[in-house]
Amino acid sequence: MDTSHVEADLDLTQTLFTEEQIKERLAELARRIETDYEGREILLVGVLKGAVMVMADLARELNRHVEIDWMAVSSYAGTKSSGVVRILKDLDTDLEGRHVLIVEDIIDTGLTLSWLVANLKSRGPASVEIATLLRKPEALEMPVDVKYVGFDIPNAFVIGYGLDYDEKYRNLRSIGTLAEHMYS
Ligand code: 5GP
Ligand code: MG
Ligand code: MG
Repeated sequence: MDTSHVEADLDLTQTLFTEEQIKERLAELARRIETDYEGREILLVGVLKGAVMVMADLARELNRHVEIDWMAVSSYAGTKSSGVVRILKDLDTDLEGRHVLIVEDIIDTGLTLSWLVANLKSRGPASVEIATLLRKPEALEMPVDVKYVGFDIPNAFVIGYGLDYDEKYRNLRSIGTLAEHMYS
């Protein structure tokens, strides 16, 4: 038995999605993406740091060439209401005429993403679409259309598979909710 992840897994209250379930779902999304983008080049744009795992696995599921680029953004405090975002690391790629597929770990309020989509669209791309592994209920009310969604989840704080609590748990293979003793 592989016990290397058991210690961190003890902090999980409830596992929502196992490594296998995530892989399976990403494969389904990958098939749709392959069909939808036939004959067009794709630039995958990941938002650091949460999207690292989704990007690595989704990109490898795609049986075709893709380019990958990264952005790092920071939301100001009081983010939930403001939606004000600052670019910490910009893309290296010129988006003019490119088919951009944003790869996200999770959409909660959707404020970060709304800002990002507007920002990227202003750079003259041929198209901008979004793929996210997880989506929370509030995101359904945002005006931005999310083309590829892995799982719709309830309004709980989740960790693992790139998602952190205080910069920890990103390396968990599964996704779950945090045990209460970890933050109370
Ligand atoms: P939004 O702008 O959609 O409200 O926030 C998106 C960002 O908030 C995500 O990229 C992520 O960094 C963080 N976030 C939102 N919900 C969760 C959650 O349940 N768990 C973790 N670890 N981060 C979350
Ligand atoms: Mg993210
Ligand atoms: Mg975080």
